[in-house]
Amino acid sequence: MRHEILIVDDQKGVRRLLEELFKKDDWIVHTASDGLEAIAKIDSITPHIILMDMKMPNMNGLEASQKILENHPELTIVMMTAYGEMDVIKKALDAGVKRCITKPFDIMNLRQVVQQMVSAEQVQ
Ligand SMILES: [Mg+2]
Repeated sequence: MRHEILIVDDQKGVRRLLEELFKKDDWIVHTASDGLEAIAKIDSITPHIILMDMKMPNMNGLEASQKILENHPELTIVMMTAYGEMDVIKKALDAGVKRCITKPFDIMNLRQVVQQMVSAEQVQ
């Protein structure tokens, strides 16, 4: 079974970088450029994991994660935060976000974290 990921980031360059990275690993990749678009997409797709940027216009990653997890508590969300955002990180984890990764991240490290999290979910 192919893995499916939703990448949510307002920066086109970040979306494109991550999209190429996971497509190379044969993942099905969906993208959204803000929280509102992510929420709209979640009605029609069921990704194994969501990579969610924190700082975005229209609706930020924390608010979007809270809304998504209200309706789909089983979804795995990894949030990408800025260094030192302890407040946001705590709120995200409280809402059910599985993990927070600090930007800028090493993409090979991110890839490994995502793969490990998806494999762990499948074992359960
Ligand atoms: Mg951003």
